[in-house]
Amino acid sequence: MPIQDTITVHRVGALVVGAGGAGLRAALEAGRQVDTAVISEVFPTRSHTVSAQGGIGASLGNVENDNWQFHMFDTVKGSDWLGDQDAIEFMCREAPSVVIELEHLGLPFSRLEDGRIYQRAFGGHTSNFGQNEVHRSCAAADRTGHAMLHTLFEECLRQGVRFYNEFFMLELVMNQGVICGALAWDMVKGGFHLFHAKSVLFATGGYARVFRTTSNAHICSGDGVSLAMRAGIPGEDLEFLQFHPTGIYGAGNLITEGVRGEGGYLVNCSDTRFMELCAPHEKDLACRDVVSRGMAEELRGGRGCGIGQDYLLLKIDHIGADKIMERLPGIWELAMVFAGVDCTKEPIPVVPTAHYSMGGIPTNYRGEVVVPGPDGQETVVPGFYAAGEAACASVHGANRLGTNSLLDLMVFGREGGKRMAEYALANEAWPELPEEAGQAGVAEVKRLLDGRGSERLGPIMEEMRGDMERHCGVFRLEKDMIQLKEKLAKYRERYAQVSVQDKGQAYNLDLIEALELGHMLDVCEGICRGALAREESRGGHYRDDFPKRDDENWHKHTLAYLEPDGSARLDYKPVRMQPLTAETIPPAERNY
Ligand SMILES: Cc1cc2nc3c(=O)[nH]c(=O)nc-3n(C[C@H](O)[C@H](O)[C@H](O)COP(=O)(O)OP(=O)(O)OC[C@H]3O[C@@H](n4cnc5c(N)ncnc54)[C@H](O)[C@@H]3O)c2cc1C
Repeated sequence: MPIQDTITVHRVGALVVGAGGAGLRAALEAGRQVDTAVISEVFPTRSHTVSAQGGIGASLGNVENDNWQFHMFDTVKGSDWLGDQDAIEFMCREAPSVVIELEHLGLPFSRLEDGRIYQRAFGGHTSNFGQNEVHRSCAAADRTGHAMLHTLFEECLRQGVRFYNEFFMLELVMNQGVICGALAWDMVKGGFHLFHAKSVLFATGGYARVFRTTSNAHICSGDGVSLAMRAGIPGEDLEFLQFHPTGIYGAGNLITEGVRGEGGYLVNCSDTRFMELCAPHEKDLACRDVVSRGMAEELRGGRGCGIGQDYLLLKIDHIGADKIMERLPGIWELAMVFAGVDCTKEPIPVVPTAHYSMGGIPTNYRGEVVVPGPDGQETVVPGFYAAGEAACASVHGANRLGTNSLLDLMVFGREGGKRMAEYALANEAWPELPEEAGQAGVAEVKRLLDGRGSERLGPIMEEMRGDMERHCGVFRLEKDMIQLKEKLAKYRERYAQVSVQDKGQAYNLDLIEALELGHMLDVCEGICRGALAREESRGGHYRDDFPKRDDENWHKHTLAYLEPDGSARLDYKPVRMQPLTAETIPPAERNY
């Protein structure tokens, strides 16, 4: 039966898209002031945040002396100097307060003997401006994200936030540069719904699923970034992807860095701790890009384990079964299910896995989406906000430190939620909807459902993800990326001929996957063009042909605009080097 293009309209003060940590924290804040609705592709507690294992970073100083300046120093350094320092300062200053707030909301943190929140060590986190390792990650065993989502979801319900679960966003609706809502597809029953809102916040998560080996959930397909790009907003720093060192071999699932924080270490086929040579000071707890490259070098050098010499080993058994079962029970289970090893006795086979998207929708530290204005100054897009992995604030710059993402979700979720509510309250009338509101989204669904195109989405998806990994992964080369650019153009042509085989409307996951493939192609274009143009190595972006950081030419953020033919056009903007306050880090220490 052909689908109806009738659109049901809902009016709401504030609309949050995405119900992971960032979306729920924003909805809780906005919901305290205005009528707030959340739409989410999956039930909120199934968002990718649920799998966060290692914890949330905050300089509580429960184990040793710590402060937000130390945290800021590590984050700026970890970002390979591409992070915006006003946003980084804001995040590190707010960190202790968002963690204490979660504790008061009932998040069941693990405890130290004296009852205070347990904190563990994590890569790149130090005290005294890089002098000593510090315990900064606040954790609820190895299920911090799980605990966070449940705590926040309950609070949102208590606050009266309305949830539209299993609604898939299709289009961001704008009228002459002003945001006025979003169009969504009801995945359960079928049908179009237009959420007419005064302010909209995107918290749709990252895009690391564009790579074949990934730690990310199926929903991490960059939907929000792509839909913002389709509305004319650039994607910022999309080429910066983080490859996490320890994905389970063959599956990609994450083994948290917390394992190395608790004393685990990596070895090659001759049982050598190669990280002692790659990073003599930080060793296995060096920044993720350093460890991933160290591992990739071992594999390239033929020092991998197994018949194919294509993985390395993560040893944890020496810390003792009791400690593993107390601090890392989820890891024990993951290793058992996905690698078939009992990590209290044997090492876990691991490879680097695509893990985190540093790039996203450009925002300032208030969670407001910003674009370059006609005079070159940054301008706020009225009514539009973004937070979490979908956004680029940019606190992680070229490389994110572990535990700083959950923190980013809480800090910018709270701030964005507060600002979007203030904006909705300040504007009495709803913005006028354009005549063609929602038509692009309706046309896309109709093309896929009613169309007769002969291409199938599965092969395109598989080939594209494999090519991204081969040509734009841990190591990048000009000739590979030129090839990738051409392949992506072909995939786009094939995608225009895709129609889905399942023609039904209820729970049509074939349709959802086809829509996601379209979004992934947009994001891949931004990643590929940005990576090809950036002739330097910085953080997660490593060019074999330009192995050094080049501050003179490349100390700037990339902006990728989507062109009508689906390709991306690049522009750049400066990194914000001015912290919010002058007294942050002593000038002598600020020499970076
Ligand atoms: C395995 C793993 C472990 C991690 N561990 C840690 C850790 O210990 N500490 C840390 O700081 N970080 C960690 N990270 C990173 C961190 O968990 C993520 O960056 C973060 O959870 C992302 O949260 P989010 O709220 O931005 O989005 P997500 O939690 O990914 O949620 C995205 C939301 O958007 C919705 N959505 C997406 N597309 C659509 C659409 N088209 N229509 C409607 N809704 C849509 C989804 O339904 C979902 O609700 C980890 C990441 C992974 C993958």
